[in-house]
Amino acid sequence: MISRHALTSCPTCARPIDAATGMLTDARPEPGDFSMCVTCGEILRYQEDLTVRKCEPLELNDPGLGNAERTVLTQISRRVRERWQRQLREDPPQ
Ligand SMILES: [Zn+2]
Repeated sequence: MISRHALTSCPTCARPIDAATGMLTDARPEPGDFSMCVTCGEILRYQEDLTVRKCEPLELNDPGLGNAERTVLTQISRRVRERWQRQLREDPPQ
């Protein structure tokens, strides 16, 4: 299920973000929740106002993030990031 929220943007690629969907559940995003940009693969974290910021690597050790979620998030993020970086090399922004 897609959950809409106020407009924010990815701090890495500037993609507008106004919705989220759960990886393992249909939960709506709440402050402190983890997310991932589908354009560049950046791992993000929701702030109090539900804007997103870049997640620091040590935050992935947060006990609120289960082992299955951590594994899925980091694997998908790596693959999306590789695809995005390849796209930038092959077709750089003008
Ligand atoms: Zn991004």
